[in-house]
Amino acid sequence: MRKRRFPTDAEVDRWIADHLADLDVIVAAYGPAKADQIQAASRDTMALSRRLAPLFSAGRIEFESDAPGPGTRMAVRMYLAAESYGIRPACPHVETDRPLTLMCDPPTVSCTTCLPLILPGLMFRGFRFNHVCDHCGRQVKTLAAVAATLGCMMIHGHVCRPCKSAFLGAVAPHSRPAE
Ligand SMILES: [Zn+2]
Ligand SMILES: [Zn+2]
Repeated sequence: MRKRRFPTDAEVDRWIADHLADLDVIVAAYGPAKADQIQAASRDTMALSRRLAPLFSAGRIEFESDAPGPGTRMAVRMYLAAESYGIRPACPHVETDRPLTLMCDPPTVSCTTCLPLILPGLMFRGFRFNHVCDHCGRQVKTLAAVAATLGCMMIHGHVCRPCKSAFLGAVAPHSRPAE
C-alpha cells in the first residue's frame, strides 16, 4: 500500500512562502477581476463548510471548522500529506475557479458543486487510513473531524487529540460555528 509522507514545519513554511501570495500580488498578477473571483470562491468555501459540518460529523463526532481560515498551516500540512499519496480528481472541474473540497482520506478532490454526487461513493469505499491522523500521521483510537480552508479549497480531515488542540489554538473563537 502506498504511504503518506507528513511534511516538516520547514516544508510547510516553504510551501506557504512559495504558494500563498498576498491579495496585492494576485491583483498585480491577474488583475482585480481574478482577485475578486478568488475571494468569492473563498467565501463560498466557508459558507459550504458551515453547511456541510453536520453531514461530515454525522452528529456523532465533534466537528471544528477554521472558517474564515486562520488554520492555514494545518490546512497546508493536511494538503501536503494528501498530495504525497496522490490526490484523485473526482470531477472534471478541479482545474477551474470553482471552490474545491479536498477529502484527506482517501485523498480526493472535487468541486463543491459535484461533492454531493461523489460523497456517497466515497463513504461506501470507506477510509484507507483508519485511525490515522490526517495531519500528523499518528495512529490513534479516536479522531475528530475538522475542516480547514486554504484559499478557495476546503480541506476535510480527521485529526488526533493533540492536533485538534493545536487547531483550536489557531482558530479564533468568534470564527467557530455555533455548537
Ligand atoms: Zn465538479
Ligand atoms: Zn495528529
